[in-house]
Amino acid sequence: MKLLTDLSMDELKQLMVAYGEPSFRAEQLYLNLYAGKNFEEMTNVGKSLKDRLIADGYLACGVTILEHYVSKLDGTVKFLFSLADGNIVEGVLMRYKYGNTLCISTQVGCRMNCAFCASGLHGLKRNLTAGEILGEVIAANRFDGGDLKDRHITNVVLMGSGEPLDNYENVVKFLRLVNAEKGLNISYRNISLSTCGLIDAFDRFLQEDIPVTMTFSLHAARDEVRSEIMPVNKKFGVDLVIDAAKRYFDRTKRRVVFEYSLIKGVNDGEEDAAALIRKVKGFPCIVNLIVLNYVKERGLAATSRKEAYRFAGALEKAGVSATVRRTMGADIEGACGQLRAKYIDRSKTEEESL
Ligand code: SF4
Repeated sequence: MKLLTDLSMDELKQLMVAYGEPSFRAEQLYLNLYAGKNFEEMTNVGKSLKDRLIADGYLACGVTILEHYVSKLDGTVKFLFSLADGNIVEGVLMRYKYGNTLCISTQVGCRMNCAFCASGLHGLKRNLTAGEILGEVIAANRFDGGDLKDRHITNVVLMGSGEPLDNYENVVKFLRLVNAEKGLNISYRNISLSTCGLIDAFDRFLQEDIPVTMTFSLHAARDEVRSEIMPVNKKFGVDLVIDAAKRYFDRTKRRVVFEYSLIKGVNDGEEDAAALIRKVKGFPCIVNLIVLNYVKERGLAATSRKEAYRFAGALEKAGVSATVRRTMGADIEGACGQLRAKYIDRSKTEEESL
């Protein structure tokens, strides 16, 4: 499977030159691809060129919207994206005053197996290519009535299924593609990359000079607790993650975000808040507290919202900036990875009853 959306404008031009086509064909194709059109819909591209691309195994975008759910409360849209090989990933479009933020997936499943997350329940199935990750943005942009010239997605967060830095090459290429001047041109400042703390890959990423907002999934500031809920902590412990965040700030001067999902009786006690304060106090960061989405298979209980505000208050009192994340699309609730899991279960049940 080869996707045209995997190619940069230069690569598309090289392909057109190799086909003996004028280079403006690349721009024509690019406009169509970024509008989310398949080959049949590309009415201004000649049949012989399309036939040749198809014969050479190329697909246009490779991502389609299989299902979507719209919140009646705030207009949030949850997507199930279908990939060309039948795999499924999730995305969420959230509407804010400043624009539309799309949360996207970078892998089918995840091998990090965090104890509170549905995405890692069945391990990693495969990485998404750069063009597939981009395809999620293109598909959601089209869904909302946008195209390349009239962009409806203004912000992107890499926080759906998968650990972005575990799919390093594709994610870095995606970031360059989505930021490209002739592409959707989404500013790095409007992109957030979340990592559970793969520090070796992070140090490599630091050298790329791609100044996105870095979000570190911390979820506990004591190693014994973090190792219990995040297996990655056995290799890259709390101090290594916080040191990495500091290196990012030193290099980019961009305030980093620590994600902290509050789990009742696990990481929400006074000693947990105290440990977190000790580790991050005095460093320009923000702690984003998340009231856990219940995942049946995981069985962990959420801290109440009231307790989450108490936890945030303890941090603020000690001079550490903290927010409690707003719940978006509460009426179509489902933790990351759950929609996909439910869809797969449903498909199996339907198959069995045939
Ligand atoms: S929280 Fe992120 S890194 Fe952990 S299992 Fe889920 S998707 Fe993977």
